[in-house]
Amino acid sequence: MTLAPPAFHLMTKPGGAICNLDCTYCYFLSKELLYPGSRFEMAYDLLETYTKEYIAAQRVPEVTFAWQGGEPTLLGLEFYEHAVALQRKHRRPGMRIQNTLQTNGTLLDDAWCAFFGRHDFLVGLSVDGPERLHDAYRVNKGGKGSFNQVMRGLALLKKHRVDFNILTTLHAANAPYPLEVYHFLRDEVGARFMQFIPIVERANGTGFQEGTDVTDRSVTATQYGDFLSQIFDEWVRKDVGDVYVQMFDVALAAWVGMSPGLCVFEKTCGTALALEHNGDVYSCDHYVEPDYLLGNLQELPLLEMVASEKQRAFGQVKDDTLPQGCRDCEVRFVCNGGCPKDRILTTPDGEPGLNYLCAGYRSFFNYIGPAMQFMASELRQGRPPANIMRQLALEDADARGAAVGAPRNAPCPCGSGKKTKRCCGRAQASSRS
Ligand code: SF4
Ligand code: SF4
Repeated sequence: MTLAPPAFHLMTKPGGAICNLDCTYCYFLSKELLYPGSRFEMAYDLLETYTKEYIAAQRVPEVTFAWQGGEPTLLGLEFYEHAVALQRKHRRPGMRIQNTLQTNGTLLDDAWCAFFGRHDFLVGLSVDGPERLHDAYRVNKGGKGSFNQVMRGLALLKKHRVDFNILTTLHAANAPYPLEVYHFLRDEVGARFMQFIPIVERANGTGFQEGTDVTDRSVTATQYGDFLSQIFDEWVRKDVGDVYVQMFDVALAAWVGMSPGLCVFEKTCGTALALEHNGDVYSCDHYVEPDYLLGNLQELPLLEMVASEKQRAFGQVKDDTLPQGCRDCEVRFVCNGGCPKDRILTTPDGEPGLNYLCAGYRSFFNYIGPAMQFMASELRQGRPPANIMRQLALEDADARGAAVGAPRNAPCPCGSGKKTKRCCGRAQASSRS
């Protein structure tokens, strides 16, 4: 056994992979096949073992219980009432306990939302954009879109003043529409916390991280980079300090020399594990596969599995297998080669292990570099990073001034690479028409 980390994250699936929707890109639905004949319901005695050991293992003042699925609300409210009671029973004096629950939102009602509000749950709601983009893949068992049910759930969360964040997966259908998606989430949904998760879905029959082909539902690396860059342009001019986009926070942390706080961009992994409904503990939520099973909570202490040599090796392999091309890369400090599950390409030198999203990561991190440097410098001097908005407003005004009289078809003086008429000269162009 190696030394246990002072804190770790455990994503718990009390109902396994069971879901009332049938999202076509979901990587987890096939995990149902790992447990043939199961009732997919965490038993109360196991829930208590988990609660007790999880709290005891965390050597920090705040503990987060993260509920996921499948669709975790399928277990019914009573299960979570019991979970909260057990947390109260086992928590140490002074310890703060937070619950997060990721849901598709379709089963939420007043009772659920009142419960979330009463117990300060942070609810993650999956929304892929406006109706036609959301419904492209987020469908029910009958193939019908889930958008209207999700919006009903959202209204109830708001009615009961539940803290929520929005998780948007990026895929072939919505990735080409960055501003439409961002504006919808910000203005219609009222999201103040957003996460964008790229869909890189393996095309194989196993549902495991095998093979190098991806489905055509997957986002491409270029689409991913463009999506992030375009919404960054909007965010950095209008929304810094008001809207939190996880990827931008992670990047800013890296630019100020802190840990990114998201496993995908850490140098090593191994502190974000998954717990199945029957007590099986896996190295990671994305590796719920027999080869990555660490043991069962009913047979082994949780801490023993977290601190096992097998788990340490799982985490270390991320750095050990990083291709030389990544080690030499100018944005390695923020990217670290991304998640191992997506490392299915070879580098131009023929080395395996390059991330499928590399081209997107590289263009995006380089694109945001100057703004990130500015914000990091403000932070270091004790000033708000939101000062970037004033700075860019001044620069944009200068660029518009320089564009006055510039040839409309020549490259814009601001250096964007676009034609003047499509960039800072746009205002003149429209006032002429
Ligand atoms: S494999 Fe990917 S998702 Fe899992 S812990 Fe590592 S970086 Fe995170
Ligand atoms: S941008 Fe590409 S080359 Fe650079 S560290 Fe990330 S995955 Fe590696």
